[in-house]
Amino acid sequence: MNQTLLKMTNKLRFAFFFILISVGLKANITKNDTVVCPVDGEKIIFKITTGLNTWGSYTDMEKTGTMGDYYQQIINTCPKCHFSGYIEDFRKTYKEDVLKYIIDYVATLKDRKLDEVSQCEMAGEILSIQKADNRDIAYAYLVASYQLRMNDSLKEKRKDLQRKVIEYYDQAVQMKEYDENEKASYLFLVGDMYRRVGDFEMALKYYDRAAAEKKKNKWVKNALELMRPLALKKDDNNKI
Ligand SMILES: [Zn+2]
Repeated sequence: MNQTLLKMTNKLRFAFFFILISVGLKANITKNDTVVCPVDGEKIIFKITTGLNTWGSYTDMEKTGTMGDYYQQIINTCPKCHFSGYIEDFRKTYKEDVLKYIIDYVATLKDRKLDEVSQCEMAGEILSIQKADNRDIAYAYLVASYQLRMNDSLKEKRKDLQRKVIEYYDQAVQMKEYDENEKASYLFLVGDMYRRVGDFEMALKYYDRAAAEKKKNKWVKNALELMRPLALKKDDNNKI
């Protein structure tokens, strides 16, 4: 995929977060997409959702609504070699040296599970090998953390993933990987991850940084009003 198209896809992915209102009572639209694994040439058919009926969002930006398998479809994995990534990662042309690193890495994945969380983690690791945008790496871990929102027995695992989200969104801010309003959104999200892992001092620090940004989406303002008091009360509730 060429760079311009890739950038556009990234923008669209983030812009999508901000569609917090219902788009009408309709069923999700899904379609099949055929790709070829860049590691072993395996032909794979992925199901992707192109239309959603959303009506809200958690403060970590997981959308709620008639979501179907939307979040499970964001990261895909080759059933044969376990190469994992966003659908555009299956369509990229990799430089020879990068592909070699990926192939070497994928060879270590044979025994890894193929559950939703592992797939996102493998994707995050492969994205980091190819030096993808930090925000794309962060999002893979963020989606993984959504899968464990209600799973109290894997709370520590969820927090590990959220620490990865902090690391990569923080770097995304440092590397200025954002458009206008997104900086405040990333800062808020880092703050909210800190609250979710129980580091309230850092949570408040990042909430304040988000609040200080002049340009921010309305949902960030609303979310700050809701979450700041929680951080002050040392509440790490992850189910909201
Ligand atoms: Zn493969």
